[in-house]
Order: sequence, then C-alpha cells, then structure tokens
Amino acid sequence: MPKRTRQKEAILRVLKSTTSHPTADWIYSDVRKEIPNISLGTVYRNLKLLWQSGEISEMDFSGTFSRFDGNPDNHYHFRCERCGRVFDVDEPVNKETDDRVAQKTGFKIFYHRLEFRGLCRECQESREVRTK
Ligand SMILES: [Zn+2]
Ligand SMILES: [Zn+2]
Repeated sequence: MPKRTRQKEAILRVLKSTTSHPTADWIYSDVRKEIPNISLGTVYRNLKLLWQSGEISEMDFSGTFSRFDGNPDNHYHFRCERCGRVFDVDEPVNKETDDRVAQKTGFKIFYHRLEFRGLCRECQESREVRTK
C-alpha cells in the first residue's frame, strides 16, 4: 500500500527533523502540511508501528500525552519545569547501573531512563528579567 508508506515516511521525516520531542498532536499538525487529509488516528497508528520497529522511541514522562523521539537509541533527557520543553543530554548512558540493579533485584533489565529536571537556559534568563 503505497499511500500508507508515504504517510509513515512523512511522519518519520517530521520526527527526525526536530529535536523538540513533539507530541502526536504536534506531529499531526506538521504532517498535515504535506498530507492534508491524514487523520490523527493514522498518525497514532504509524507512530506505534515506527516505535514497534525500533525506528523511534516514545517518552512517557508526562503521562497524559506522550512525546515522541526521532532518536531510537537510549539517551538521557532534560525537561524544563517551566516551559516543559525536553532536550537531549549529551551524557553517556551508564549500562553498569543496569547490571547492578539486575544483580540486586533479579529483574531482567533492558535499559533505564533518566530525566534531569530544572530550568532551561531561556527560562533562567526570563526569570532574571522578571525579578528585576
Ligand atoms: Zn524552559
Ligand atoms: Zn531525545
């Protein structure tokens, strides 16, 4: 089905072109510029397929609405508590933690996720302006 492939490719392209870890709604509105008749359900379905095939990763930090990541490799994130933006953190993933926890608990660990929280650079600056 060439149409489905085109939709999937458009979604993947949108995700790979941004580092903002967008929600499905955001991806939907961006993909619609290219494919105006695409539905949100189709976007969700293709995101799931892309996630299942390991081409993207899904982030469940916020609970109510999930964000998606064009980078399928395990990496750490920073989330700004003020503006809610998510950034990639260039820090090596510590696989020894997985081994240590696996030994301690007997669980089979595939990977772990780490999220740093605080204020992004822009929010730190705007806070300074406000307090003056
Ligand atoms: Zn911020
Ligand atoms: Zn990321």
